[in-house]
This record gives sequence, structure tokens and C-alpha cells, in this order.
Amino acid sequence: MVKLAEWRGKEMFRKYGVPLPRGAVARSPEEAESLTAKGAVPLPCVVKAQVLAGGRGKGGAVKFASSPAEARAAAASILGLEFKGEVVREVLLEEKLAIGHEFYVSFTLDRAARIPILISSAKGGIEIESVDDAAIDRQPVHPFPGLTSFERRRAARSLGVSGSVAKSLDRVLGALWQAFQAEDAELIEVNPLAQVGDGVVALDAKVIIEDDAAFRHPEYAEIRDDRTPLEEIAREKEIAFVQLDGNIGVIANGAGLTMATLDVLKEFGGDPGVFLDLGGTDDPNKVTEAFLLMAKAKPRAVFLNIFGGVTRCDTVATGLVAAMKQVPASDRFPLVARIRGNNEKEGIAILEAAGITATPGLKESAQAVVAAAKGAA
Ligand code: GDP
Ligand code: MN
Repeated sequence: MVKLAEWRGKEMFRKYGVPLPRGAVARSPEEAESLTAKGAVPLPCVVKAQVLAGGRGKGGAVKFASSPAEARAAAASILGLEFKGEVVREVLLEEKLAIGHEFYVSFTLDRAARIPILISSAKGGIEIESVDDAAIDRQPVHPFPGLTSFERRRAARSLGVSGSVAKSLDRVLGALWQAFQAEDAELIEVNPLAQVGDGVVALDAKVIIEDDAAFRHPEYAEIRDDRTPLEEIAREKEIAFVQLDGNIGVIANGAGLTMATLDVLKEFGGDPGVFLDLGGTDDPNKVTEAFLLMAKAKPRAVFLNIFGGVTRCDTVATGLVAAMKQVPASDRFPLVARIRGNNEKEGIAILEAAGITATPGLKESAQAVVAAAKGAA
């Protein structure tokens, strides 16, 4: 999931012709002062923390300034703040507009209906979760015809606007819809979309780019910083690999079994630290690659819990034994294997030939790996 900071979202909106306040980003109080002093940001202005969490308005992370000195002071008070766990490193300064009314509009995916939807509400400026359901309009937007004029008119009606404001809204909705599609967004939210004079302006921008489409957007690669370096390598190799805080490595197949294995380890007092979902692999080399990646995370013990189906037990065993040979002795760790299902006997034989004992019971093997991780501590 690639979440764009407000200023990045707005920069993207600009390409599609969405009306925006004039503004600029500052990374220090001095910069905030000089941007306003030299007129790059008109005064009075708004100074907004650039964090991904919402509720900045309520949370003191949006301030107003009417002089360069005030802009500097506002930036100084916001920069470095920890807002909902995120340290503020940038502020967005924007001209303060005279707002007539605050609306809410968004395009997102209705996963249950499997179709994009347009959500609109006349009650903008507050979190949509706290708006009464009756005050929210939801319309499915079929991707083939795209956003129709009927849907735009219905949205205008839901916001209670007409005349030139409705015309401006119509254009903005068209632009946002275009952006939603072309940028592979899973969410584009404008809250508030403000009425300013006889038009509308996007005062806020929340944009999330669909992860599966990230490869089409190298422009966002630098901000994809929520993955660890190993997770980044895994992603390039198309290996499902997640790092947590614990010390036990888990290799399983299928999201369901992987999650259940983490739960079982927790149940027995273990602390799973990294997990690997082999999914439906039928290539031993892929298993080797995945396993070597796991070794780099330096787990204290590893639990291999496989239910052979598409991923056959002997495939996993072969890949695993090949990988074990490549792990340097200093990086070796105790391994507990439980493999059941398709080609189980062959798999167990391959493991045993390499000196790895397979335990059939889930409880016994979970307890064994927890003990091994503690023993190695
Ligand atoms: P959020 O609370 O994190 O969603 O931050 P927003 O960007 O939505 O800003 C919160 C509130 O600040 C908005 O609902 C507005 O009331 C106010 N605000 C933001 N920009 C302006 C502006 O240009 N003029 C005025 N008058 N208010 C603004
Ligand atoms: Mn907002």
C-alpha cells in the first residue's frame, strides 16, 4: 500500500486539473518563513503537518499564520511533533481561503460489490466515519462507461449545490475519477472539498495507490519505505515474507496455515519474528531462495509447517535441504519440521537423510521450536 502525503496527493491532483490552493512544502521553520516572506505562499496561510494519519485539524497539527514570523512559529511548533506515532518532518503551507462550505467526496473500491464507488456527503471537514449514514451518498461507478454525467449530477444533488458551484464540482469529479483510474488508486479522498466563491477547491488530499499496481508507478518507489530491506528483496523475488519483532522463523504454505501457525506458537509462549508463506510453489529452487532469505533474518529457531497440496512435501524438503547446505555454519539455527499431505513420505525421507527429524504433531513441534528458541537465547 503506497499512501501519499497530502502534498504529494495534491501534486498528483494538479496534473488532472483539480483546483488547489497555492502552496509549498517546508522542512524547517526558516524555510516556512522565507516561503511566505517572498510570496511563494500568500498570506494569511495554513500550516499543515504532513503525516499520513487524519484528524490533524482536531489534533493541533493544522495552524494558521498571517505573517512570515507567524508562519515560522507555526512550523516550529509542528515540525518534530509526534503525531499518532509519526514524526512530522514536513509542513505544507497554503494560502488560507475563505471557505463557504466543506464537502466530502471520494472514489474508492467497494470490495464486496467489486466495483469502484463514488462517495459524497454535504457533511465534509470531519471524519466520514462519524457522519450519519443517511447524510452519505454512495454510487457504484462502472469502469467501462466511466463516471457518467448522471452520477455527477446525483453527487451534486447530494451535496446540495447548483449553478456554477455544481459546474465546478462536475469538472472536479471528472478529474478525480480520471486520476483514480490512471494512477491505479484504491482511494482518492478529498475532505474537505471546499466551496470557495462560486467554485470548489480541494483543501485536503488522501491518496492510496494499489500495491499490485506499484510496478507501474516507479515515481512512488522512493516513498515505499514501510518494508524492511529483507522484505524489499522478498518482494522483488515474489516471495511472501514478513518481518515482525520476535525470534522464531515460520515457514508455512498458504496464508491461513501461516497465520494459524503464528497463533499456535504464541499459544505456547513463542515469539514469531519472521514468516514466509511458500504458497503454491512447485519449484525447489524457489523454496531454497525463500529459505536463504529467512536465514538472513537470523531467527533463533525455525518452524517449518507444511501441508502438502499444490506445494508438495518433497518439493519443500528438497529445496530446504539444498538451502541448509548454503547457510554458513555460524548462521545455522535449530529447525523443527512438520510436514503432512501430498508426498509426505518422500518429503520426510529427504529431510531425514539430511539429519532433520520431522515431527507429525502440531503441538509437539510447536513446543519443540519454542524450547529451541529459548534454549538458543
Ligand atoms: P485533517 O483534519 O487531517 O483531515 O486535515 P484537513 O486538511 O482536512 O484540515 C482540517 C481543517 O482545517 C479543514 O477541515 C478546514 O476547516 C481547515 N482548513 C484547512 N485549510 C484551510 C483553508 O485554506 N482555509 C480555512 N479557512 N480553513 C482551512
Ligand atoms: Mn481532511
